[in-house]
Amino acid sequence: MDTAPRISLKQSNRKIILNMFRESSVLSVSDVSLKTGISKPTVQKVINHFAETGYILPEGKGNSTDEGGKKPLLYSFNQLLGYVVTIHVGPDFMHSAIIDMKSQILQSDFRKLDDIGIEEVTRMCADVISDYSKSDLVQNSRIISISIALPGIVSASEGVLVYTPHFPGWGNDYPFVGELKKLVSVSAPILCDNINRYQAFAEMKAGKAIGKRNFMIIDAMEEGLGSGIVVNGQLKHGAQNFSGEIGHMLLMPTSGPKCICGGKGCFEALVSLKRINALINEGRKLHDNSLIFTDENNETMLKRLFAAFVQGDEFAIVIMDEIAFWFASGINNVIMINDPELIILEGIYTTVGDSFIELIKFHLERLAYPGIERKVQIVMSDFGNERGILGAGTYAIWSFFNQVEFYSD
Ligand SMILES: [Zn+2]
Repeated sequence: MDTAPRISLKQSNRKIILNMFRESSVLSVSDVSLKTGISKPTVQKVINHFAETGYILPEGKGNSTDEGGKKPLLYSFNQLLGYVVTIHVGPDFMHSAIIDMKSQILQSDFRKLDDIGIEEVTRMCADVISDYSKSDLVQNSRIISISIALPGIVSASEGVLVYTPHFPGWGNDYPFVGELKKLVSVSAPILCDNINRYQAFAEMKAGKAIGKRNFMIIDAMEEGLGSGIVVNGQLKHGAQNFSGEIGHMLLMPTSGPKCICGGKGCFEALVSLKRINALINEGRKLHDNSLIFTDENNETMLKRLFAAFVQGDEFAIVIMDEIAFWFASGINNVIMINDPELIILEGIYTTVGDSFIELIKFHLERLAYPGIERKVQIVMSDFGNERGILGAGTYAIWSFFNQVEFYSD
């Protein structure tokens, strides 16, 4: 979507008007004309065009105007005319869903993945697509697009999984989309990209980054941290698709903990669950009374740590302060490269709450350029565990409605 093809006035009007319906519930011709500045007869023509193709539905009459004029006819976007199959392949799971054209999840499936080869992952994706395409939902409609969020370095333009540090056995340059197409009979386009890029896209269209042109998401999982970067309203891929791999920025290159990528002292290795466990074990003898060690049999270590931190437990604060320091160091480096206006945190740390963000900001103001206030906003995402499927699905829907041919006769 980096280079927009030429678009005629007619196509442009159709796109603007359909986008307005996609983002609204019901609208009249006057509503659309008022909001877009496009004349009422042209709006009516465009509505008639999309009513014929089924994308816009009549919704009866609205209330009459204050002046006592005629009751206007109302219309809505037909979000059930087509569906998207979206799959998120995580480090140890496959999460999939079928969603409508307004990103509403209609059916979903979550399964654990053992340590399996990429050919097996591809076959499982094909099975998921086949199952959804046979579901009752799709019988009277069609799948408009299929999108798959993958871990690691992905070339979206070529449909190639370049490399995944979690699974070195998957090899290099696996032609994922090409291999998947051999196994599925659905004719819809198949897209893939790095999960974090899709997440950033979804934040821009339906999350915390609506209206923002320079922002990034940072997703920290128990093991693994990545970023989706948007510059001037465009997702960044870079020359070799490394863009966003900030988990492997070197923050402690000589003495830091080992990283799954083969390096040492990477950002993600310093804030991973493994690292937290190591810090807790190192300090346990000195802090045996810490709240972290109560309820050990019933709650996960992370939940106990976060709860103890919020309650002001001294040892929990020491650990979270160190984690916040490494977040601030990583964030400082990306600010110096991309200068985003907003950073959205996703993943395991979103449940800690705003006090963790305050701690990150505290350190951020004291690292480089202490004399200049960091105006970058840091917030937590609302997408939760559905962020992968919503991200990939939202991107697929926007790609579908971004095709110039869609607005031709
Ligand atoms: Zn690394």
